[in-house]
Amino acid sequence: MAALRNVFHGERLLVKRENLAPYECDALPVYTTQALAVALAESEQDVVEALKLCKEFGIPLVSRGAGTGLSAGAKPIAGGLLLVTAPMKQILEIDQVAMTARVQPGAINQQLSIASAPHGLYYAPDPSSQIACSIGGNVAENAGGVHCLKYGVTVQNVLSVRLVSAAEENFGEVITLGSSCLSQPGFDLLALVHGSEGGLGVITEVTVKLTPVPEQTRTLMADFASVRQAADAVSAIVRAGVIPAALEMMDKLAISATEAFCKAGYNLDAAGILLIDLDGHPLEVEAELAIVERVLGESGAIAVHLASDDEQRAHWWKGRKSAFPAIGRLSPDYYCIDGTVPRHRIGDVLEATERFAEKYALRVANVFHAGDGNLHPIIMFDGREPDALERTEKLAADILEYCIEVGGTITGEHGVGVEKINQMAVQFSDAELAQFRAIKSALDPHNLLNPDKQIPTLARCQEYRALRSCCG
Ligand SMILES: Cc1cc2nc3c(=O)[nH]c(=O)nc-3n(C[C@H](O)[C@H](O)[C@H](O)COP(=O)(O)OP(=O)(O)OC[C@H]3O[C@@H](n4cnc5c(N)ncnc54)[C@H](O)[C@@H]3O)c2cc1C
Repeated sequence: MAALRNVFHGERLLVKRENLAPYECDALPVYTTQALAVALAESEQDVVEALKLCKEFGIPLVSRGAGTGLSAGAKPIAGGLLLVTAPMKQILEIDQVAMTARVQPGAINQQLSIASAPHGLYYAPDPSSQIACSIGGNVAENAGGVHCLKYGVTVQNVLSVRLVSAAEENFGEVITLGSSCLSQPGFDLLALVHGSEGGLGVITEVTVKLTPVPEQTRTLMADFASVRQAADAVSAIVRAGVIPAALEMMDKLAISATEAFCKAGYNLDAAGILLIDLDGHPLEVEAELAIVERVLGESGAIAVHLASDDEQRAHWWKGRKSAFPAIGRLSPDYYCIDGTVPRHRIGDVLEATERFAEKYALRVANVFHAGDGNLHPIIMFDGREPDALERTEKLAADILEYCIEVGGTITGEHGVGVEKINQMAVQFSDAELAQFRAIKSALDPHNLLNPDKQIPTLARCQEYRALRSCCG
């Protein structure tokens, strides 16, 4: 501790129980662990020193940005150091000509768009947590968002990353992955760090692409009498040749929770609604509007509304972006998973989710990035009931494993963390997981960085598969 204190003076090193408590979990508070200490990094050098000390004393290191993760990726390891990069939040440079920005890892997603706005630019990946989440956390989770259908997720919007390495050959050195142009020779190490969940190095700087603010954006809201029809309309829109800037869906429970929370103007009688943004040159938007309105009608929409002005657009989107806290008011606890499936299978997964929820006597609300096929079943439960978390985990496992069955994946953007580690054994074969472990041990041979998360051990895989085959 004295060695850490030499680097992290005063209140930058937290060791008292009451000070460690707020850092016991991320935004999935059902999994908690207290760290040995929490260190608040203010510079790249702090990160380098912290990593070196962790190696010297053999203690694990978990990086943490804003702690908004939903898979317990930033949950501390018992006896380990939690290194918080949130204080490194400066936007170092906005280059209007190159349309790029260089930021520290703790820079807040929405702040980057706000700072870029005077240049007619914004940062496209916009997780619904964008008012709080950090760019470093976005890279580590390869975050998505409402506008990622058209503009790509984080990996498509990052040019380079500075990373403190934990590999044997260059331990503690700062390396740059990527460059200021779009391609690089050799292995795509920049892509590898996206979604690495703090397990392959600590990110200390990110250079992102900025996107011009579109000339025009129009928003449609379509009401449906069944979730199946709403879900099928999603793939019909893309099949018709339109890639909306955003294509989101909410089911009845999500609609009613949101309406009660912030009166967004949603139809309480609808079983499902789609919120659709079309953006670009006004002529392009007009042509796409006509196509989407036609497809929505053919798909059985009971009503299609076009936002009259920016105020109404913002109002509808405020509802969507407030859906999580709105649903949070319906139940003492919730657990949100993010399986992703081919678009045309969304309806199947929503119907299966209803059946599974009945089996475990739990309620599920759905509000999600429908255009990406990225579902967000929000399972409501009361953690005070003795078996409620267990039933919730089983329901989550059934839904995620059904996503795999229909050709999908267990996570679209929230990451594996602790939450979905068992499902990695279903998603991947032993040979495939061996490849993950080989990369992890090459880049983090001392297993210092976020150990025991994301990649299950062989023993754990065998145990989980055996449990599934005997108990279903
Ligand atoms: C209400 C709500 C809505 C959300 N909506 C979305 C959404 O639409 N799309 C989406 O993708 N996610 C969403 N999320 C999840 C979450 O916001 C994202 O995963 C986000 O990218 C996490 O960023 P963070 O800064 O909070 O990271 P944290 O939670 O602090 O950490 C997440 C992971 O990143 C690692 N990490 C953090 N900083 C670093 C670093 N400097 N170097 C290396 N590793 C690091 C951590 O170890 C951890 O594994 C939502 C969460 C909430 C609570």
